[in-house]
Amino acid sequence: VWDQADEIVEGLPAQRKHPYKAFVNIMYGCDNFCSYCIVPYTRGRERSRDPEAILEEVKALVADGVLEITLLGQNVNSYRGQIRNQDKEEAGGGTVMDSSGEYVSFAGLIHMLNEVEGLKRIRFTTSHPKDLSDELIDAFASCEKLCPHIHLPVQSGSTRILEKMNRKYTKEEYLELVEKLRRKTPDIAITTDIIVGFPGETEEDFEETLDIVRKVGFDSAFTFLYSIRKGTPAENFPDQVAEEVKHERFNRLVEEVNRISAEKNRALVGQVVEVLSEGKSKTNKALYTGRTGGHKLVNFKADEDVTGRMVKVLITESSTFSLTGRAV
Ligand code: SF4
Repeated sequence: VWDQADEIVEGLPAQRKHPYKAFVNIMYGCDNFCSYCIVPYTRGRERSRDPEAILEEVKALVADGVLEITLLGQNVNSYRGQIRNQDKEEAGGGTVMDSSGEYVSFAGLIHMLNEVEGLKRIRFTTSHPKDLSDELIDAFASCEKLCPHIHLPVQSGSTRILEKMNRKYTKEEYLELVEKLRRKTPDIAITTDIIVGFPGETEEDFEETLDIVRKVGFDSAFTFLYSIRKGTPAENFPDQVAEEVKHERFNRLVEEVNRISAEKNRALVGQVVEVLSEGKSKTNKALYTGRTGGHKLVNFKADEDVTGRMVKVLITESSTFSLTGRAV
């Protein structure tokens, strides 16, 4: 399915690289205008696909062998889909409709997809913290197919820098969201994106970023050096950070992120986790490979061919980026 700035075309054949996993676009565009990002100017305003079209696509994927879907959008939390053909009560009523009673919310869409027979796992990306609803936090507990993993880009730990980025949340508000998520789903894996060296970032601001990284204890993080995007407001911000300062902070951040990832992975040694087995590892044909619900990469031994199956794996070793184990 492709999109233009003001419309959505349905019914085009889906392409996918993996037999058991598929990505499903649920919305296009973005209304957030983060000051460093070009997406709102190039992809237009937010448009949500109809939930019935998404449901049909997911059912077709499952019929074709898919076990795990990842719902995609720049800001999936602001999904608002319209039911056009079905009776709203039949579609799930209050469980799936938002407070207006007119639109299916993102949590509602997950509830609808959770009912698809044969589907094992639902994931989504990306969530904007300012739109993370209590309803979605509850869905982690009430929809058993929704994987216990959220990618929640924090970008900076400094409220001052978050304001310059136009992110519309503070460090404290982000920490509150994390607390709420963990209260409902204690074992939820939380991953993030962080930008280092945004214009005006001081050493104190960067320390705030290190502080939030430690306080949250992210399972992993994509870390980026800020670079100017032509046509964005931040292009003209004063106080661009010197390259060598950015690199020095970046290295310190990566070290901290990796230390915590390794610690989180180490805590899984001795535990049995459920893995969607994707087949033989590309680097070691003696092992199978797959991911946990928390999206951790696991390479494991199995006595039989477990390709395309949900497998219980005892974790025996860990490293910064992966786990090793054996099927039990
Ligand atoms: S960073 Fe994400 S939320 Fe912000 S404007 Fe870009 S696409 Fe939208």
